Amino acid sequence: MGLTIKKEDTVMVLTGKNKSKRGRVIGVNPGKQKVVVEGVNIQKKHMKPNKQYQQGGIIEKEAPIYASNVMLVCPKCDKPTRIGNQMLEDGRKLRLCKKCKEVMD
Ligand SMILES: [Zn+2]
Repeated sequence: MGLTIKKEDTVMVLTGKNKSKRGRVIGVNPGKQKVVVEGVNIQKKHMKPNKQYQQGGIIEKEAPIYASNVMLVCPKCDKPTRIGNQMLEDGRKLRLCKKCKEVMD
């Protein structure tokens, strides 16, 4: 089973301390059913100095959260919504907003 959420989607967080926060999806992991949302679930990490972080120290990075804990925000009606699917004749699947019935992509 894949994820209905894709990179660059806007989602709303349903649970936890970031509840009701909206953010852009910056990573998806369909295998683990997880997504990374910009500005959500920030974890502090201690880094040793390396090529990328020459100073080392503490960096803040978004950690993945379960896709079931977020809801896609429809770009058409701007509401968090469940997704419907519409199959095309050539086998492609389109995502459909269940609130406004508009096709998302
Ligand atoms: Zn909609």
